[in-house]
Amino acid sequence: MRWRVPLAVLGLCLLSVAGSVLAATDIRGVRLWRAPDNTRLVFDLSGPVKHSVFTLAAPERIVIDVSGAQLQMALEQLNLSNTPIRSVRAAQRAPGELRMVLDLSARVTPKSFTLEPNQQYGHRLVVDLFDGEAPSNVPPVQPSLPVTPTQAPARLPPPPGGKRDIIIAIDAGHGGEDPGAIGPDKKLYEKHVTLAIARELQRQLSQEKGFRGELVRTGDYFIPLRRRTEIARKKGADLFVSIHADAAPRSSAFGGSVYALSDRGATSETARWLADSENRSDLIGGVGSVSLDDKDRMLAGVLLDLSMTASLSSSLNVGQKVLSNMGRVTPLHKKRVEQAGFMVLKSPDIPSILVETGFISNPGEARKLSTAAHQQALANSIRTGIRQFFHENPPAGTYIAWLRDSGKIIAQGPREHVVAAGDSLALVAQRYQVSLVALRSANNLRGDTIKVGQVLQIPQTTVAVQP
Ligand SMILES: [Zn+2]
Repeated sequence: MRWRVPLAVLGLCLLSVAGSVLAATDIRGVRLWRAPDNTRLVFDLSGPVKHSVFTLAAPERIVIDVSGAQLQMALEQLNLSNTPIRSVRAAQRAPGELRMVLDLSARVTPKSFTLEPNQQYGHRLVVDLFDGEAPSNVPPVQPSLPVTPTQAPARLPPPPGGKRDIIIAIDAGHGGEDPGAIGPDKKLYEKHVTLAIARELQRQLSQEKGFRGELVRTGDYFIPLRRRTEIARKKGADLFVSIHADAAPRSSAFGGSVYALSDRGATSETARWLADSENRSDLIGGVGSVSLDDKDRMLAGVLLDLSMTASLSSSLNVGQKVLSNMGRVTPLHKKRVEQAGFMVLKSPDIPSILVETGFISNPGEARKLSTAAHQQALANSIRTGIRQFFHENPPAGTYIAWLRDSGKIIAQGPREHVVAAGDSLALVAQRYQVSLVALRSANNLRGDTIKVGQVLQIPQTTVAVQP
């Protein structure tokens, strides 16, 4: 009973402290990202603020009024190159009434929102400037359903004997405001690793006749999850591959994994935890209502059933092929494809997989993931898995379908090779058109030493005989 009075006093103190904090929120920094069609400004704040944003014409300007705030940094340090912003000015109109003015070189459509603190950042004010006038591609504010086959742009029937490329949409996870997982030294960001691997995969695919890689994200900016599959669909993707690097509370966790969409939920606790944190990153895009509400979920379920089965089994099939190839260049966290309800994979008409290339939270794997050599090896293993899948299941009207139909793709089952005098491991690999890594792995070899008479297992391959 004696502490009743002190508690009340403490309560009063807290109230007055909170009051003074509200009166003077500091703007401590501002970050800027340029995407192909928009510019994002993120103001880092010491607390919550109220704000308003409006446009002025002739000359074009954006005015950002923030009440209860004061600027504690210089705006001049912002790198505005390649953006429609010419300059940024700020003035304190009254104590705690801050006005910032963006002078523009072109008309933009602004959209703004505030964000609560998360693991990486404190309170933030986000101002998105979409190029041009009220574009139709402003992120949806209402929760939109996964696009159904009828909503998807109708793909023209392939011309007979057509030889189009198979298009792989390569989605580098995270970006811009959303760094993804962060390495143990706080320097390695998942968003950079994923973009590097995505670019390498695109480069490798461009060298493979019959395939074309299309990057969903081309730089360091944020794309809401649902927009990513929209971009893939617009590019006419035959496969959607989202690239990520894991993080786990245990820094010892390691290994790569591959996920495919599940309409029944995650197959393991880890998958669920991951799906949660990957999906949560969409909130950074400011679309608060990302998850389907129950009504939408029911309707979506019915619509999805129509096309999900084929797409899901394709996803599992290509996922397994990517996973077994990845197993040759990196340890695997799980030996089979995991299924999880990743928002980014909800693209029922396109087979989709999410590749976790390793644990960025593991110091050893973080070091590997940051090297070009390992990024290349990972990209190569993903490409090999994709190629194997499409050699077996080429979409009609593609060059690869034409190759298969004219008997130019030959599947070669697992075989054995008896080492003869003069053989080297490299020669054997070349002869059967398998990679050295694959050959070593199939035979549990550590080095390249082989003996005459030794029986080598040759893994299954498909070979395209170029005309
Ligand atoms: Zn991720």
